[in-house]
Amino acid sequence: MDRTILQENLAWRGIGLAVFPTREEAVRYLDRKIDGASVGIGGSMTVKEIGLYDALSSHNEVHWHMLAGKIADANRSEVYISSLNAVAETGELINIDGAGNRVSATAYGAKRVYFVVGRNKLAENFEKALWRARNIAAPKNAARFGTNTPCVTQTPPKCHDCQSPERICRELLVLWMKPRSVTEMEVILIEEDLGY
Ligand code: SF4
Repeated sequence: MDRTILQENLAWRGIGLAVFPTREEAVRYLDRKIDGASVGIGGSMTVKEIGLYDALSSHNEVHWHMLAGKIADANRSEVYISSLNAVAETGELINIDGAGNRVSATAYGAKRVYFVVGRNKLAENFEKALWRARNIAAPKNAARFGTNTPCVTQTPPKCHDCQSPERICRELLVLWMKPRSVTEMEVILIEEDLGY
């Protein structure tokens, strides 16, 4: 996928793109940009894998329920960091959520939002990105939580649009553009496979 095309398609939507060959370079970039701020982090295996929490927490007030912290505090922060389930080359950003904390925090509230994603999250267009979010990211997340849902109990793993009470997919956020309330929104693309 051509990163220049992705950059252009994000730019008219008001969303920036920064590309890094390695996770270490991406962490250094965010560590420089985010200083002395309250920072919320959503549930994200990508953020966990790159070790961003340790870097930021030494000089910011970081709230992340996956380690220590409350979701309510994360959702009141000036800066919010999340991953994405899929990024379309055409520029749409997609997340599926269960509780809603991640999609709500990235849609409204924070002044700056950074989406940290590995190259494995990229898809050619919106339809393929949505397919990825539903059939690759969501079943892997369901497996991580050990839910009794057909995407976990049946093979091959794929979404069955289930009616299970344990269904993790309850909300879908498609960012067509940067919300007006957000000052800065940037995709941090790392040229490694990260998260789901
Ligand atoms: S809707 Fe149900 S089957 Fe589909 S990915 Fe989500 S939990 Fe799995």
